[in-house]
Amino acid sequence: MCPTEDHHVSSIVYGRTTNLQPLGVDSAAARQGIKRFELPDEEMDSRLAQRFVQDELLLDASPALNLASFVTTYMEPEAEQLMLQNLSKNFIDAEEYPSCAEVEMRCVNMIARLFNAPLDDPTSEALGVSTVGSSEAIILAVLAAKARWKEMRLAAGKDASKPNIVMNAAVQVCWEKAARYLEVEEKYWYCRPGQYVLDPQEAIDLVDENTILVVGILGTTYTGQYEPIEKLNALLEEKCQKTPGLDVYIHVQVLSRVASINASGHKYGLCYAGVGWALWRGKQFLPDSVCFTVNYLGSPQVSFTLNFSKPAINVIAQYCKSESLIPNKTAHESSDQFLRLGKAGYRAIMETLTSTADYVAEEVMKLNGGDFFELLSEGQAQGLPLVAWRIVKADCPYDDTMAPHTEEMKLLRVVTFLRDLKDTLHYLDHAPAEIQKHLSKSEGSGTLAVAASRVKHSKKQNVHLHEKHSLQGKYGKTHAIC
Ligand SMILES: *Cc1c(COP(=O)(O)O)cnc(C)c1O
Repeated sequence: MCPTEDHHVSSIVYGRTTNLQPLGVDSAAARQGIKRFELPDEEMDSRLAQRFVQDELLLDASPALNLASFVTTYMEPEAEQLMLQNLSKNFIDAEEYPSCAEVEMRCVNMIARLFNAPLDDPTSEALGVSTVGSSEAIILAVLAAKARWKEMRLAAGKDASKPNIVMNAAVQVCWEKAARYLEVEEKYWYCRPGQYVLDPQEAIDLVDENTILVVGILGTTYTGQYEPIEKLNALLEEKCQKTPGLDVYIHVQVLSRVASINASGHKYGLCYAGVGWALWRGKQFLPDSVCFTVNYLGSPQVSFTLNFSKPAINVIAQYCKSESLIPNKTAHESSDQFLRLGKAGYRAIMETLTSTADYVAEEVMKLNGGDFFELLSEGQAQGLPLVAWRIVKADCPYDDTMAPHTEEMKLLRVVTFLRDLKDTLHYLDHAPAEIQKHLSKSEGSGTLAVAASRVKHSKKQNVHLHEKHSLQGKYGKTHAIC
């Protein structure tokens, strides 16, 4: 009856063996524990099962303290209640849940209008889908661009076997995945000390007849800076006009040569993890060959997603957050229970985050004598509301590694806090040698909470630490969680 290494035991599960207490306590179960890798032979009391899992999850850090990520960790009780009420709905089942499909369509249209999507008239429907996150949205955008490019090349009797994407090597790992999974060559523009966003001319110089997309990022992973989309757009327009047969588009912002955009629902869309958005400029950028027609209430509906089934609650949560973006809503309608932030609400939150980030940046720059850190992020709303900085005075082991060609640079990034930083600096400087060694060797972003859990999961991680194929493998760039 004794637990072994293969068991998980709980310190909270306790009580009498024979007579389950109201909270599902059971000392025999507590003593024996549960097997880690094997499905139990017998069922157990639901309260006991809940207790075991609840217990296990106590080891996780509190999401509200996670400053390493852009992903939303707070939603109001009303939004959570709405999500709970709709937990059992499968989003793909539009025949059973037509309102969910309607909600998605409204969100797509609101976001498209925010980005000034070129619509035939103010009432036209924009083209886009909800996704599980930005990664799915990006993979879909690359897929559509590749299919369009391939059809164009084949129709012109040209070779269509070597597609490429032009992008900043500071891209998030999902772009590497998209390129690798869809067999598209990655053509990188490399950062250099002092410049971490695409140089528009150098990027456009990389474009050739095999380029299926140029990527522009509004808020890069490392420094939160905005890439110069307008300049990229103008130079690409010029190059395409000068070069017969060249017809290349950008993925991101709505300008004349922008084909597609993705926007994150669970980052600055302010919803819990599980929602993103992909939008296309028009039907010509979403070839039929990648769309599938599913039957919806007896009429066909076009589906272009990686997953089939997925929860409906994330889309519903997004709608709840942004319903008041619907133009021409009357005051009466605006008071309905789903309504929440609207343009004004989002603006207010972003302004608060921006002023907090500006304050933190200013204070961080004052630390350790004032010339210890260099600020890498932009303030005053010229980039994302985050603070990224590096140590200029000494080598420091507790940090992320920058993008390729700037890998000798180490940075720290927080997504908007401060008193703790001073304590942390002190702690790290005086940490036992063992911890210092661990931190200096660890991969991934360097928060202390994560460092602790990393010790626990190190066996699993080591299997993948030796990857050679990615920018992380080649240059030590951190596949940071953003
Ligand atoms: C978070 C992030 C991604 C990946 O998005 P997911 O929603 O986590 O799949 C891609 N690019 C940037 C710039 C990001 O910040």
